[in-house]
Amino acid sequence: MPNWLIHNKWTDKAGIDRLIANYVDRNIDYGTQWVEESHKNTNSNHDDERIVVKQLRHFYKKDNETKYSNKYLYVKAFYIHHLLDYFRETRFNIQDLDLIFKKFLQEKVTIEISIDNGSKINFKKEIQSIFKLFRHNKDQLFADLEGDYISPTTKKTSP
Ligand SMILES: [Zn+2]
Repeated sequence: MPNWLIHNKWTDKAGIDRLIANYVDRNIDYGTQWVEESHKNTNSNHDDERIVVKQLRHFYKKDNETKYSNKYLYVKAFYIHHLLDYFRETRFNIQDLDLIFKKFLQEKVTIEISIDNGSKINFKKEIQSIFKLFRHNKDQLFADLEGDYISPTTKKTSP
């Protein structure tokens, strides 16, 4: 069971509407909508793409469909979701934010996608603003990460 309470807390901080945040969380953890969409385009050679690339392409499209498109809120929610998941998964020291951010970009997500007209778009600006948000709220981040979020079962003692 994904802990969307924590996810919501951080997307709130980033100024992302709950409707957008919940859409992104649901799609990443359960969704197949973006998969179906990418298969509609039969002459695309995107089939061997990593899932995160397909997700990012989908959320980028969603951002372009909305009037908030210049803010890339779907894309930001995508990065926040995966970053919070990454804190839970990584074998690196999560206290070392510089290292975590670097590894996150190397191992977990992609910074850049190519769009339909063949040109490339990168989200460095959005990523940097999210890193900044986490850095500035470091204490709260570690408090969130310490609790049930990281190890949901270890706190409960079996009868
Ligand atoms: Zn997740």
